[in-house]
Amino acid sequence: MRRPTLPIAAPIMLSMALIACPSSAQTRQPSIPPPSIVAYRPHSTLVVPEHPVPRAKFPAVDFHGHPPDLSTPENIERVVAAMDELNLQVMVQARPSSGDRLTRQIDAVRAAGYADRFVFFASLDLRNVGPGSGARIAKQLEEDVAAGAVGIGEIMKGFGLSIQKADGTRLHLDDPELDVVWETAGRLGVPVFVHTADPAEFFEPMDYENERWLEMALFESRRYFDRSRFPSFEELMAERDRMIAKHPNTTWVVAHMSWYANDLGKLGQLFDRYPNVLGELGAVLYDLGRQPRFARQFFIEYQDRILFGKDSFAPDEYPYYWRVFETADEYFDYYRDYHAFWKLYGLDLPDEVLKKVYYANAARIVPHMPTTGFPGS
Ligand SMILES: [Zn+2]
Repeated sequence: MRRPTLPIAAPIMLSMALIACPSSAQTRQPSIPPPSIVAYRPHSTLVVPEHPVPRAKFPAVDFHGHPPDLSTPENIERVVAAMDELNLQVMVQARPSSGDRLTRQIDAVRAAGYADRFVFFASLDLRNVGPGSGARIAKQLEEDVAAGAVGIGEIMKGFGLSIQKADGTRLHLDDPELDVVWETAGRLGVPVFVHTADPAEFFEPMDYENERWLEMALFESRRYFDRSRFPSFEELMAERDRMIAKHPNTTWVVAHMSWYANDLGKLGQLFDRYPNVLGELGAVLYDLGRQPRFARQFFIEYQDRILFGKDSFAPDEYPYYWRVFETADEYFDYYRDYHAFWKLYGLDLPDEVLKKVYYANAARIVPHMPTTGFPGS
């Protein structure tokens, strides 16, 4: 967990260090009023080689796409133009879509001649689950897959965190009523893309040791520390793991690397325990870019289990991902200034790993993934 108990000797060593080093920031107070946490933005003086990467080295699949609704030619053209610039070959439409809303987009993309640039996932209506809901949701899933959907998702974080059952209780991720849905996904061979919880710090007390204090201060909706309203991070992950354990024939993709990107050893254990689980990279770049050596080792070891995904569709943010994955650049800026107070480093991933993370793993688990435009096709 976030605050491991220090060995008994540690506080003593710490206080000795403070005595031995009286000029350290902990003891010496500034003689002029210090700036606020928001105002202090020192510019780095470090000059090192820079290699910005506007286009991915290999064509990529964005497994966690949230482009706008794709039912109009204007939206489709706009998204495709941005994808071309970035070398994004295929975008997964992971925005909640089912029934008519799904088929309208599938038809529009086909009519526009871009059937090889988008694939569609189906959403599930998980509200007010009660007896019989599982069969109803599974039936809708069958219809959506027959209409062209090739996955489920993104199942949003409300599943587990806040969605209620018909009886007013919280819908647990491992609720047996939903077993038929996950079994149906396994039978149809479509992956389940699920976002569970949020960074663990959001569930912790909002004190000055909390790494996400500023973000929580900026966004009230990211505070989940009230146990009378929200389950704990660990409880949600345990429910999620039990759900996965019950369905070994279903392919699961945990969004945001299960929010374990700051503890890759833990993610490795999840992958080791469940061979049918993959992790998606959206919105956790700041954690990978602060541990380039260990993250590189992790990517090499688990190269068949990682999928590129971006989450929000902001074309000018993708190049940060390419740069972290592809270069050995040092100490460069991230695109958010409240997520993290540190700079990023490149992982310098080998080509074979990049190809798997960018497209080969997605092509392996998503049925009918288009092959046009990928090397070797
Ligand atoms: Zn998402």
